[in-house]
Amino acid sequence: MNGAAIIDGKAFADGLLGRIGEAVGRLESTSGLVPGLATVLVGDDPASRIYVRNKVEKTAAAGMKSFNRRLAAKTTIEELLALVESLNADDAVHGILVQLPLPDHLDAALVLGAIDPAKDVDGFHPLNVGGLAIGDRSALAPCTPSGCLMLLKDRLSELAGLRALVLGRSNIVGKPMAAMLLAESCTVTIAHSKTRDLEEECRRADILVCAVGSPGMVRGGWIKPGATVIDVGINRIGAPEKGEGKSRLAGDVNFAEALSVAGAITPVPGGVGPMTIACLLRNTLLAACRQRGVVESDI
Ligand code: NDP
Repeated sequence: MNGAAIIDGKAFADGLLGRIGEAVGRLESTSGLVPGLATVLVGDDPASRIYVRNKVEKTAAAGMKSFNRRLAAKTTIEELLALVESLNADDAVHGILVQLPLPDHLDAALVLGAIDPAKDVDGFHPLNVGGLAIGDRSALAPCTPSGCLMLLKDRLSELAGLRALVLGRSNIVGKPMAAMLLAESCTVTIAHSKTRDLEEECRRADILVCAVGSPGMVRGGWIKPGATVIDVGINRIGAPEKGEGKSRLAGDVNFAEALSVAGAITPVPGGVGPMTIACLLRNTLLAACRQRGVVESDI
């Protein structure tokens, strides 16, 4: 039985990107302000190159300015910090994204902490992290959990009182996701590799957000019947059915099994992934409005 509704993150993200594009157009005609996003890519990691290229394309499509800075893998921390400083000082740049992971010799925490918090559209600066934790609505929030929350609110309308389990405790997904669900008055549990009886913890959840990085780990039997499942995982796995040496993307949830148990589920690809970029551009628009003192569009 295929009972679960498929949460179409791609369609939702396309709608959000359309509204962002319209807001950018209005902003330019009323205040002459064109939001600008700077991306910084250090080294040649193929996945990071694709992520940055997608962000650059979507930025331009939304009518924003895009500034791309590519640095060699052997770039020193001093050189990278100097670039961040110059972007901090550039009035045309309203958002700065340093693509992670950085090469091992570069201290990511040092670099993220050097970004002007007002331009920190990834929401990773300690001031924004702290702002999210204390419920400061002016804090720029991380993009992936923001996208997950939008999909959940669209699906469930009211989250208060629901039992939510966040599987994974990374700084970029799990922890901010838990903070956001708590702010929505969910009863939140955070699970990780040391959690005892993980299956039972998952089975109690009305909302299950999976951000582990382990393909198909969450089985159908772990899911509470009717639960809403958000699969953040993006894992590349072999796909011999497509031909020798071929691969495909898979989430952290066993999708086929989950379909017959969950009430709704995000697919991989086409679920959370497109929302992440849309929320990045939303943050850039918000950041530009705030830096210029312009009233923010409600998107
Ligand atoms: P991390 O590797 O930083 O964190 C993984 C988390 O999963 C950790 O907290 C870890 O626990 C936990 N974990 C690992 N194995 C197990 C296990 N067997 N049982 C229970 N918990 C486990 O990953 P990220 O948060 O960065 O990313 C998670 C996934 O989401 C990845 O597939 C990534 O590609 C994807 N992703 C997708 C995005 C999107 O736009 N859709 C954006 C960002 C990430 P512990 O802390 O104890 O080690």
